[in-house]
Amino acid sequence: MKEYHCGTLVPGCDWHTRHEEEAEVIRRAIEHMREAHGETVIRETMVEAIRSRIQNVRQAA
Ligand SMILES: [Zn+2]
Repeated sequence: MKEYHCGTLVPGCDWHTRHEEEAEVIRRAIEHMREAHGETVIRETMVEAIRSRIQNVRQAA
């Protein structure tokens, strides 16, 4: 299970998401950046910043 907290990249934001697939977590995070933070241009550096902040989490039973 992969988890991403937007607050690690955008201080003060408490949005987070988790999914089995890292690609899906990144897709959702980018969608969130567009909708919540007005980032219309998603740069490769931003994708890398998101990817580097994704954590592995144990799936809750
Ligand atoms: Zn956010």
